[in-house]
Amino acid sequence: MRPLPIVPSRLISQLCHCLRSPASPQSKICLTMARPSSNMAHFRTCFAKAKHIVIISGAGISAESGVPTFRGAGGYWRRWQAQDLATPQAFARNPSQVWEFYHYRREVMLTKEPNPAHRAIAECEARLSGQGRRVMVITQNIDELHRRAGTKNLLEIHGTLFKTRCTSCGAVTENYKSPICPALSGKGAPEPETEDARIPVEKLPRCEEAGCGGLLRPRVVWFGENLDPAVLEEVDRELALCDLCLVVGTSSVVYPAAMFAPQVASRGVPVAEFNTESTPATDRFRFHFHGPCGTTLPEALAPHETETIS
Ligand SMILES: [Zn+2]
Repeated sequence: MRPLPIVPSRLISQLCHCLRSPASPQSKICLTMARPSSNMAHFRTCFAKAKHIVIISGAGISAESGVPTFRGAGGYWRRWQAQDLATPQAFARNPSQVWEFYHYRREVMLTKEPNPAHRAIAECEARLSGQGRRVMVITQNIDELHRRAGTKNLLEIHGTLFKTRCTSCGAVTENYKSPICPALSGKGAPEPETEDARIPVEKLPRCEEAGCGGLLRPRVVWFGENLDPAVLEEVDRELALCDLCLVVGTSSVVYPAAMFAPQVASRGVPVAEFNTESTPATDRFRFHFHGPCGTTLPEALAPHETETIS
């Protein structure tokens, strides 16, 4: 019979220490400060306590519904990207071409649907409002997928594809016409070899206010334009009041999450990122969940066991 190996007692105590789990509360806090946690159970504890949740969403959540952004690698409409056409200068130079671009984007949205991430957010808002709790979505997306999923508390900081603003009288109008005007019917094809339609300006979408007839433009915030100050004021109010913030489908190093989320984190409020990519800025946030938000969000926002469902 082999003798039992002799193990120094100090080694045993070290082994026991290593096996002991979890880490003490103090070391857990240190870990949290060092890098964001991807512990869903910890996030769910914060979620269960939150009374006022702000969700900042960006292009990534729309991309999961197949919505093209016309930015980044491969993101072209004809030979251009959004930053070439979504400007006041481009509209002044060639309103026909810019309207073709937006007409195409509007028509594309007829074939797209909200995905499980949009639906999880809308369902969470409806459920929590029955418990006297608030969910507010602040989105940079102009495709209205949050609205179509049923989200009510919504700040569309970049406007929407489905509103117009008159360049003469300033009237803002909802507009879901397809096509938005007869001259744009069948136009707007995205292929690089497509010829410009060169639609005369009087045949482009025009204001229907009595006696106006001015040229309409999409009610979206273009590159080089400022956000609506009234909307920004509402954003500020929400950021100041929230006790949990989710950043969904947008990198925390780019606008607008780069402006908003650190403001919330600096108050000590938990911020959780849901994204398919890690970002260098995530170290200042409490949580980071890697992967498609259509997968991570439904789990994160599902009813918590402590919720009283009426
Ligand atoms: Zn007008």
